[in-house]
Amino acid sequence: MNAEPKPPVPDKPVRKCAICGKPAAGKFLPFCSKRCADIDLGRWLKGVYVIEGSDSPSAEDDPDNSVWMDPPEE
Ligand SMILES: [Zn+2]
Repeated sequence: MNAEPKPPVPDKPVRKCAICGKPAAGKFLPFCSKRCADIDLGRWLKGVYVIEGSDSPSAEDDPDNSVWMDPPEE
């Protein structure tokens, strides 16, 4: 038996937008548009915030959190 477990692969695999499911456009891969890319970026950033914030309730007062902003120079 020479059965190769290889699924037929199209020459150009169409990537679907992870946000809305439309075919992704080259410029915004793997998304279809800048809007969907921004949405995913927002979700990702939010997720990071939640994960880090869950460790310390007072994340806003955490000095390490100041890296997100420009520290005042003295
Ligand atoms: Zn999309």
